[in-house]
Amino acid sequence: MIADCPLCLTRAMLTIGKPCPACGGMVTREILEAFDGLAAVTVDEGTAVPGCCFLCDAPRTRTLKIRVDPESGNFKVEDAQSRSEEITFATKSILAFVLGVLRMVTFGFHTALTLYDPQKDPGIRVYVPCCDKCSGRVHVGRVNGADRSVTILAGAVFSRRIAEAGKAPGGA
Ligand SMILES: [Zn+2]
Ligand SMILES: [Zn+2]
Repeated sequence: MIADCPLCLTRAMLTIGKPCPACGGMVTREILEAFDGLAAVTVDEGTAVPGCCFLCDAPRTRTLKIRVDPESGNFKVEDAQSRSEEITFATKSILAFVLGVLRMVTFGFHTALTLYDPQKDPGIRVYVPCCDKCSGRVHVGRVNGADRSVTILAGAVFSRRIAEAGKAPGGA
């Protein structure tokens, strides 16, 4: 079936029991079931920040900034409202969080950065609404240098929230 790969968030032809053609990670039934209710959502630099948490859809209590470092190409998740409180992005994925059992699996996340050339870019910053509970659970699937966007694993309704926020009259 053609679907968003839960491992690399790339749209690909996925078969249970076979590696994803995009990232090479093994696609299992458990991974696909854990992905149910979640979606790969692309947030670009100009997107208005919706009022609901990206993951659980609870009211927003904070805004996270995903910053792509132009030097290293690595990304970092920070609290946009308080600079002193910085959440360092580890390779902890939300899928590992959801599944628990899959912590041993090596995901090929970092290969996803190949589309982005840090030498030619001052850095990408996107903002993601979040509740206190979900602030450590951002999973960045890939950085899209061409359209200055970041694809994250989010709740299934979040892409609709972004569309609504973007349409708001006189919105940010
Ligand atoms: Zn994949
Ligand atoms: Zn939440």
